[in-house]
Amino acid sequence: MNSTNQTNKFTRFLRNNAALLLLVFCVVAIGAVVIAVSVTGDNVDTPVGGNPGGTTDTPVVDKPIEDTPKPVIVKEKIYFASPVAYQSVGMQYTDDELLFVFNPTLNQWATHNGVDLLAPENTPVTSMYDGVVVEVGESYGMGHYIKVDHGDNVVATYASLADVEVVAGQNVAKGDKLGVVSTTASFEFSDGAHLHLEVAVNGKQVDPMDYVEGKVYREIERTIME
Ligand SMILES: [Zn+2]
Repeated sequence: MNSTNQTNKFTRFLRNNAALLLLVFCVVAIGAVVIAVSVTGDNVDTPVGGNPGGTTDTPVVDKPIEDTPKPVIVKEKIYFASPVAYQSVGMQYTDDELLFVFNPTLNQWATHNGVDLLAPENTPVTSMYDGVVVEVGESYGMGHYIKVDHGDNVVATYASLADVEVVAGQNVAKGDKLGVVSTTASFEFSDGAHLHLEVAVNGKQVDPMDYVEGKVYREIERTIME
């Protein structure tokens, strides 16, 4: 009796609450589908986006970084270069009033504020560095001469020239031809064909040989995109 009674009660409960049960079933079913989809979605994401993505992720992430141009500052040394292919040095440089070199042309001992670079006549004379021609002139002692401001208060005088190819105010680049070696410096006639070269730093004469021999450089900072 008891069991029959309970069965009847359960049957009656089912019958009375069928709609509620159906609703509960539907909610559970929808929930299960949602969970299944999201889990499947994760599974889809993980193998496809994870494993192959794992191997492709690194280059895919790195490439845009490599491809994105980044400004990098590089330091570059730019050396002064010899202005002429000289064969020997004639009269050397003297830097104070008590030191003299013998000037055979003048037949006397005298200061010599430059160097004489001996080369065959018509040997090209080129600019030792970038600069601006500040003066083109001619004098009895120096012959045809060119003064070039090479920046940083360095002014070079290229003298005993012929066939001068530049004018005052002209920009010149390192290696540009200024003229040719000649014998126009009358005070130094006995040296033969040569370039008389002077270098002044802050208005004071210095030994040009450090420049001629490529010992002087400037460090230039350049920004490049890497
Ligand atoms: Zn000289």
